[in-house]
Amino acid sequence: MRLARVGQLGRERAAVEDEKGILRFLPETMGDIDGQFWIDGRRDEVQRLLQANALGEPVAESERRGSPIAKPEKVICIGLNYRDHALETGSPIPEEPIIFMKAPNCVVGPNDQILIPRGSLKTDWEVELGVVIGERARYLDSVDDAAAVIGGYCVSHDVSEREYQLERGGQWDKGKSCETFNPLGPWLVTPDDVLSPQALGLQLSVNGVLRQDGSTSDMIFDVPYIVWYLSQFMVLEPGDLINTGTPKGVSLGHDDVPFLSPGDLVELSIDGLGSQRSLLVQA
Ligand code: ZN
Repeated sequence: MRLARVGQLGRERAAVEDEKGILRFLPETMGDIDGQFWIDGRRDEVQRLLQANALGEPVAESERRGSPIAKPEKVICIGLNYRDHALETGSPIPEEPIIFMKAPNCVVGPNDQILIPRGSLKTDWEVELGVVIGERARYLDSVDDAAAVIGGYCVSHDVSEREYQLERGGQWDKGKSCETFNPLGPWLVTPDDVLSPQALGLQLSVNGVLRQDGSTSDMIFDVPYIVWYLSQFMVLEPGDLINTGTPKGVSLGHDDVPFLSPGDLVELSIDGLGSQRSLLVQA
């Protein structure tokens, strides 16, 4: 199942792709794709509507695509989760997952503009597999229990300001939570439609030049391990987003690869999860 949210920022409506590949609105009674969507078991209702051909009208091509999830309570990120990315940034390979947070309100739509923060000279890109939690998880007993709490997968862009992240003291969060710093979507794809989350190609280009071309098979800590691990330190709630790390090919660590400037176009894609296209503008 491929879920989406469409409409003006803050007024998005939930939609789903039918079996012919046409995006259709869900009935208003279905509400938004937020934490309550999972708590109420509305995913199963959507499945019933799909099978009964009882969806709403088709969504016009011109409609803005919003983030496929509304108001995550938490956005948790895994740092340096690809060996080649850790090496390019001159960082040691982590022995345990590195965890940091992004402010949830920096999640925006997949094609929305990305604002370069005021005073920023080092705005950088990171294509990542996003994992959305579908069921509350605390102290999962084993890695095998993780699959049952995953609601879906999406393309996530962990935009990062490297000076704020690494040169201004303290933790990384300062360079990770700027306005619009987490374009998400276009789709939230449920696990039954993602055959192998650990074998997905992920790409990112800037102004048509391919910069990142990796595979989720190269993660140091895989998705089930990350979910299990996080549940030992915090309670994962339905609707939470986990960004699982980025492969090599960012600007950081490469003097010959410029950071982002106003007017740049960043395009991201992950196999089976869709693509994003974001224009950079000055905040
Ligand atoms: Zn990241």
